[in-house]
Amino acid sequence: MNAWQKETSIVLLLLIAVSVIGGLTGLFMPMLLALILFLLIYQVYQISRFEKWISMGGRGQYPKTKGIWEEIYYHVYRIKKNEKKRKKKLGKMIDQFRKSTEALPDAAVVLGSNDEIEWENKAAREVLGLKQSDKGQRIPNLIRFPEFVSYLKSENYNEAVIIPSPVDNLITLEVRVVAYGAGLRLLLAQDVTQLKKMERMRKDFVANVSHELRTPLTVLRGYLETLQDMDDGNSPLLTTSFTEMQGQTERMQHLVDDLLLLTRLETQQKKPQCINVPDLLSQICKEGDTLDKTDRQIELTLQSNAHIFGEEQELRSAFTNLLGNALKYSHEDSVVKVRWYESKNSIVLEVKDQGEGISAADIPRVTERFYRCEVKRNRKVNGTGLGLAIVKHVLMRHDGRLKVVSELGKGSCFSCHFPVTRVCG
Ligand code: ADP
Repeated sequence: MNAWQKETSIVLLLLIAVSVIGGLTGLFMPMLLALILFLLIYQVYQISRFEKWISMGGRGQYPKTKGIWEEIYYHVYRIKKNEKKRKKKLGKMIDQFRKSTEALPDAAVVLGSNDEIEWENKAAREVLGLKQSDKGQRIPNLIRFPEFVSYLKSENYNEAVIIPSPVDNLITLEVRVVAYGAGLRLLLAQDVTQLKKMERMRKDFVANVSHELRTPLTVLRGYLETLQDMDDGNSPLLTTSFTEMQGQTERMQHLVDDLLLLTRLETQQKKPQCINVPDLLSQICKEGDTLDKTDRQIELTLQSNAHIFGEEQELRSAFTNLLGNALKYSHEDSVVKVRWYESKNSIVLEVKDQGEGISAADIPRVTERFYRCEVKRNRKVNGTGLGLAIVKHVLMRHDGRLKVVSELGKGSCFSCHFPVTRVCG
């Protein structure tokens, strides 16, 4: 018999007893009233005892009682006990999480929806100069580097931002924001001083070597030209040697020029202007037509008159590389189509050829420095493997993106997408 059945049976028994005794004595109504009053007082007493126990937090053993009230006390006591256990477990987990994030070598800061600091770890205090008392303060008021403030504002966290440490400007930090939960963001800052130093050393090394190679190359080319002029054609071996040497020095010259251009793209400050792209494309296509000695045709379609904000030399070199490749890797009588048009969110330059195409495996790698696809051809195609690396860099400096669609044997379509924010006329 459960507690409820027991409780009901007792009340029923009491009622029967009152009815029997009341019936015999003729005092049924007063006895019934007395019974109801007694039950009422008993329940009020139990409720007040329960309220007193629960108002003290329901802690410790519950008061001794019987029947349904003992059941109620027992259930509440059990729920409370389980809750306490869960809280303890959760507290332990949070503690472990805090300890591990405190020990992280990278700075981590939890930001609220208004950029206010909700929590930070030890590395964040050391490297970002935050104090425990800064909790609740807006982070842009404490770290005021403009690039950091605009990065935070942009809400576009696909890439990281590089800033010096507010504590020590010899330390370089790579700051990245990860959005999670409702309005919460995690800011992570990593010390990349050594990495940046090595990158600078690599850039300096390439720049110095390329620069130093220019003079000996010019001298070599000069002497070679003189020797070629002096060649009377009596020795075929000498003639072919001169031609081969000239070809190789020209190749080396292109390599050095491309390397120097890449270095400039990586290191030089931008001086952007409003560029008349339709005019620039007309010039490039004309030059391409003149330089190409074969029957290949260049078709230029200008569907937009948009000018964009950028660096003329850089854009010229990127577009020339794309057109040059389209011509280089196409058959002698094919057509190369160049189109300048506006799409939904961008302004696009498209260079489409009917050439040898690129395999799916090679497409992601063509913009790597010195990468050249291995294709069996019956003619030799010269190149440095740096052209598309230059294109990618130029586009990056213009907030643009390069898209490559290609199929082996069918042709390729290279398109440069510039954001509409770059349009200036
Ligand atoms: P390269 O100086 O070798 O042309 P790039 O960086 O310009 O160097 O191009 C890298 C490689 O991508 C090339 O060697 C070539 O194999 C491939 N490639 C580039 N453009 C085209 C194209 N339009 N059609 C086919 N293959 C291409």
